[in-house]
Amino acid sequence: MMITNSEINKSLKKNFKGLKVNYSFKKITTMKIGGLARYFLVVKKETELVEAIFLAQQLKLKWYIIGDGSNLIPDDLGFDGLIIKNQITDFIVQDNKIFIGAGNNLLNTILNLDKLGLAGLEKMAGIPGTIGGAIYGSAGAYGQEIKDCLSRVRIFDGKVFKWLSKKNCRFQYRNSLFKSQKNLIIVGVEFICPKKEAKELLKISQDIIKLREKKYQPGLLCPGSFFKNIVIKDIGLEKIRKKLLSKIDSNKVIFGKIPVGHLLETVGARGLKQGGVIVASHHGNLLYHEGKGRAKDVVILANLLKNRVKKHFGIIIEEEVQYVK
Ligand SMILES: Cc1cc2nc3c(=O)[nH]c(=O)nc-3n(C[C@H](O)[C@H](O)[C@H](O)COP(=O)(O)OP(=O)(O)OC[C@H]3O[C@@H](n4cnc5c(N)ncnc54)[C@H](O)[C@@H]3O)c2cc1C
Repeated sequence: MMITNSEINKSLKKNFKGLKVNYSFKKITTMKIGGLARYFLVVKKETELVEAIFLAQQLKLKWYIIGDGSNLIPDDLGFDGLIIKNQITDFIVQDNKIFIGAGNNLLNTILNLDKLGLAGLEKMAGIPGTIGGAIYGSAGAYGQEIKDCLSRVRIFDGKVFKWLSKKNCRFQYRNSLFKSQKNLIIVGVEFICPKKEAKELLKISQDIIKLREKKYQPGLLCPGSFFKNIVIKDIGLEKIRKKLLSKIDSNKVIFGKIPVGHLLETVGARGLKQGGVIVASHHGNLLYHEGKGRAKDVVILANLLKNRVKKHFGIIIEEEVQYVK
């Protein structure tokens, strides 16, 4: 039986007092771009998350889970369903084993762990977003990755809660099981962290935060690095690998990866502009929003860059950012 929009409205509003209708993506993404989420809900507890998913299933309403919106490009036409912002912020420490709700902010988590003398995440300080977003995107920086000290991930699969071992999360460079199975919601993680001096960890995090501010000015409207770097061993075709390697200096290859920024800069990306979206003049892989742009501008600019790189280097580069529609 067809469920009408007014029935969906009524049912959601009755069950969730904090529900927002036609909520702007500009308020919930670091890029401050995109249209309206038909429904927007913040969940702070596992029980609220389950209620929201079950109700969406019952109402045949599509849903999408977000963290802090620091890797998102929502469509100008918005999202015709329920956006669920995860703010489950449990934080349980048992010696060097820690359970952390996926809605915890990554930086706050790292600073808390630093203070407790628990190591393994300190170099990721300054990556925006939540723990859930970091697991989804296999986030990392300065030689550390979210998976390093991870022991297991607690998920909700739309029916039940389960634990997934680190191996089963299939982490790769900026990739994980969760990118191919969007029905899996990350609700928490368990880390086992080696112990170190708190003072030393805090200094590392603070130094890295300062260093990062040179690339990302505080307040810049962007989703971080736009495209993924190129992992040489993952290039399927020998012919493509050879063509690419013949066109770059070998000193550009760092730990088996080619920085995509180098390819983009070679094809003249710096300073390119489409509508209100610009490629930074100091970094070819940084697209930022002037304030009045559209998601469409982002897509046009991204396609232009992809085409230029394909034409010159013979390789198709892939977005790290996530489009939402
Ligand atoms: C200035 C800046 C610098 C950045 N630097 C880095 C960097 O150095 N390294 C790096 O790796 N990234 C970097 N990023 C990208 C971004 O911060 C990360 O991808 C971050 O982990 C995204 O987390 P989030 O909570 O904001 O996720 P969101 O942007 O809200 O969502 C991103 C994706 O994760 C999914 N997701 C979020 N939460 C969950 C969940 N609980 N369960 C299932 N799926 C979920 C969403 O559906 C979406 O597809 C940077 C971004 C910015 C703006």
